Amino acid sequence: MLSQERIQKIRDQFPILNQKVYSKPLVYIDNAATTQKPLQVILASNNYYSTMNSNIHRGYHFLSQKSTTYVEKVRKKIQKFIHAKYPSEIIFTKGTTESINLVASSITSSIKKGDEIIISYLEHHSNIVPWQILCERKEAALKVIPINKDGFLKFENFELLISEKTKIVAINHISNVLGIINSVKKIIDKSHEYGALVLIDGAQAISNLCLNVQNLNTDFYVFSAHKMYGPTGIGVLYGKEKILEKLSPYQVGGEMIKKVSFKKTTYSELPFKFEAGTPNIEGIIVWGAAIDFVEKIGIKNIKSYKKELLIYATKRLNTIDGIQLYGNNDPKNKSGIISFNLSKLHCFDVGSILDRFGIAVRTGHLCAHPLMSFFNVTGMIRVSFSVYNTFKEIDYLFDSLLKTKKFLLKSQ
Ligand SMILES: *Cc1c(COP(=O)(O)O)cnc(C)c1O
Repeated sequence: MLSQERIQKIRDQFPILNQKVYSKPLVYIDNAATTQKPLQVILASNNYYSTMNSNIHRGYHFLSQKSTTYVEKVRKKIQKFIHAKYPSEIIFTKGTTESINLVASSITSSIKKGDEIIISYLEHHSNIVPWQILCERKEAALKVIPINKDGFLKFENFELLISEKTKIVAINHISNVLGIINSVKKIIDKSHEYGALVLIDGAQAISNLCLNVQNLNTDFYVFSAHKMYGPTGIGVLYGKEKILEKLSPYQVGGEMIKKVSFKKTTYSELPFKFEAGTPNIEGIIVWGAAIDFVEKIGIKNIKSYKKELLIYATKRLNTIDGIQLYGNNDPKNKSGIISFNLSKLHCFDVGSILDRFGIAVRTGHLCAHPLMSFFNVTGMIRVSFSVYNTFKEIDYLFDSLLKTKKFLLKSQ
C-alpha cells in the first residue's frame, strides 16, 4: 500500500488542498463529483497556451502541427489506458453525458417501434434521460433492471428482460451513489447472445479500475477526464471500430467532412466523423498530463489505497448511532464511495454543517432520482475518496459527524 509519506508527497502536488475554508483545513471528499487537479495538470494548461495554441488538423504551419501531434498522442495514450484496439476508436466528446447522447442520437435510425432498450435502477440521470427520449421518439420501450436491497443488479431479472427486441443495454460500471462495482461482463455477454449492443457508463470506473475494453468486449465505453484528475469539458466515447463505422454522425459541420458540395457531403474516417467543429484542444492535451499522473502512481496502487480508505471509513462510520449506509457495504464489492443518512436529520442540514467544518461532501439526489425512490429517501450524504485523502481526514469526518449530529438534534 502507498505509505502515508508517499500520500503526503502526492497531496503536495495539489495546491487547492493546501487551503483553509471557514478557517478549517479543507477536507475534500467529493471526488465522485470531480477530482482536484495536480500541479502538472495545471501547468500543462499554462504550457499549452504559452507554447502551442492553434487549431488542429487544418493548417500546415508549425504550431498547428504541434498541437495536432499532441492531440493524437493523447488519443493513443487513452487507447492504451483502456486497452482499446485502435486509436480511431477513441472519440473526443465533452464528457460522459455527451458520449451517451452521441450514441443515443446516432443509433436513432436503427430503432423501430416496439424495440426495447434496457437500463438499470442504478443509473445516473445521464444514462436514463437520453434513452427515455429516444424511446419516446421511436415508440420503443424502456426496460429497467431491478436491484435488490443491497444495491446489486438482479441478473435473473435481466435475463427475463433481454430478448431479440432489445437493441441496446446501457448500465454503469460503478454506481456513483453506492460505489458498487457491477458485474458488467456477465451483462455484456448475455446481451450479445441476443444481438444487443452494450454501452457501459464508466464515469466512476475510469479512476478506479484497470480497464480493458477488449476483454470486457463492450461495444461502447464512456467516461470524463474531470473524474480522473483531468480538466472538465472533455471526455471520451470508446466504440468498437466496426460499430462506429456503421453509425451516423451526431453533429455535422467542419472537421468531420471529406467533401462538401451543395448536392452531397461525404464524411471523414473515424474518429473525425464524430468530432465536428473545433474540439477542446486544450482539454485533450491537459488530460494527457492527468493520465501521466495516474500512471506514475499506478492505477493498481490508487485502487488499493482507496480500498484501504473505504475499509477504514466504513468501519468508523458504521459505529455512529443512527447512521444508515446505503447498499451493500462490504468494501470487497465497492470503490471508494459511501452514501448515508443520519436518522431524523436532513442530508442538506448535515452537509451544510460539515461544510462549516471545512468538509466538502455531496448531498441531495446525487443525479439518481430513481435510486433515491428505491431507498425511500429524497437525498443522501455521499463521501467519495481520492488518492490524496488520508486516514486522518476520515477521523476528522467521524468527529465532525458526531458534532453535527449533536448540534442538529439539540436544535430540533
Ligand atoms: C459523473 C457521472 C456522469 C456524468 O458525467 P459528466 O462528466 O457530468 O458528463 C455519468 N454517470 C456517472 C456514473 C457519473 O458518475
